[in-house]
Amino acid sequence: MTTHVTIIGAGLGGLTLARVLHVHGIPATVYEAEASPTARSQGGMLDIHEDNGQPALQAADLMDAFRGLVLEGREATRILAADGTVLYDDDSTRGRPEVLRGELRRMLLDSLPAGTVRWGHKVSGVRALGEGRHEVTFADGSTATTSLLVGADGAWSRVRPLLSTATPEYIGRSFVETYLFDADTRHPATAKAVGGGSLFTLAPGKGIQAHRENGGTLHTYVALTKPQDWFAAIDFTDPAAAAARIAQEFAGWAPELTALITDGETPPVLRSLNALPVDHRWDRVPGVTLLGDAAHLAAPNGEGANLAMYDGAELGKALAEHPDAIETALTAYEQDLFPRSAAAATDGADLHELLFGDEAPRSLVNMFTGHA
Ligand SMILES: Cc1cc2nc3c(=O)[nH]c(=O)nc-3n(C[C@H](O)[C@H](O)[C@H](O)COP(=O)(O)OP(=O)(O)OC[C@H]3O[C@@H](n4cnc5c(N)ncnc54)[C@H](O)[C@@H]3O)c2cc1C
Repeated sequence: MTTHVTIIGAGLGGLTLARVLHVHGIPATVYEAEASPTARSQGGMLDIHEDNGQPALQAADLMDAFRGLVLEGREATRILAADGTVLYDDDSTRGRPEVLRGELRRMLLDSLPAGTVRWGHKVSGVRALGEGRHEVTFADGSTATTSLLVGADGAWSRVRPLLSTATPEYIGRSFVETYLFDADTRHPATAKAVGGGSLFTLAPGKGIQAHRENGGTLHTYVALTKPQDWFAAIDFTDPAAAAARIAQEFAGWAPELTALITDGETPPVLRSLNALPVDHRWDRVPGVTLLGDAAHLAAPNGEGANLAMYDGAELGKALAEHPDAIETALTAYEQDLFPRSAAAATDGADLHELLFGDEAPRSLVNMFTGHA
């Protein structure tokens, strides 16, 4: 294949695509808005699934490197009641090894030829030139033209408008992110409550979900089902007041749980949750496609990064299989992409209902114990 592939976005999806193309000897350039690989903290643990994330890493020929990143024991799961009573506690593994997102991204970056990623290239616009060619304009006014453009640029994709008029909409729920460091020493009761892996404490419309990262770092997502106006009224530039306001929603919950909010050692960060329509799709447009969140942003449900990597691998393999027929490759890729993404988004919405619906937390306990 002589076509040079232009990928927008060096997230896990775009990098997996670049790597799979490289494995097949197909050249690619990834344009990334961030100034450097370390410009933004890539915090968070990801469990990498047997049916999407792991096959993607296999296609990228990176399974051995991946195994070296796995943090043992992080698959443990606990569900606590609001008063701290243990409802479910399981430290078995379920074939979903956990890694730090930043380390996974670093592994992918290290696997690419030097210069593949062009940092500090924020796309400001794209336009069709005809016959499958596109021009990409960057924030500094420079441009690039390409006959194969891939939007791997996440939720607010600049490439998506070439294919679809859909835009993400607020799902009615947000997460507030906090961190506790060195928790076994400094917050022992909370560290014990979280255990070795994930903690879920849920009630209808809200919850505290925490995850043990490296050592004693506890990473928390506090979920609240509230309109965006409600969050806008909170002054997140005053971290203590913001944490106190969020914690107020959990009044009466066990102190070792609310400490995940009130004792946060980084300012609480608001993550508004948005999603594209579950059945988002588009008609084939020559020379351009999307992957990952750009194609199928959904409420976080543990699948998004896995799917982005899988999309990247599938697209890379399709292009390698049809080296002289870009449209055939893109058609084959999208034919599988649309139903796969719709099914995952539907499952994700169902999971949110399980986590934050009227039957929480019993609904999640039942899911883990296999009761209806
Ligand atoms: C709170 C939260 C928790 C989550 N937890 C999980 C989880 O546990 N497991 C899981 O599998 N998924 C999880 N997800 C989902 C997951 O983060 C995403 O689905 C995944 O990151 C999508 O990967 P991507 O490569 O498509 O996009 P992204 O990771 O968003 O990467 C896009 C890249 O494009 C760049 N970019 C954006 N705009 C431009 C531009 N104009 N020009 C150039 N570059 C640009 C960005 O800087 C970024 O590097 C979570 C999401 C959220 C919000």
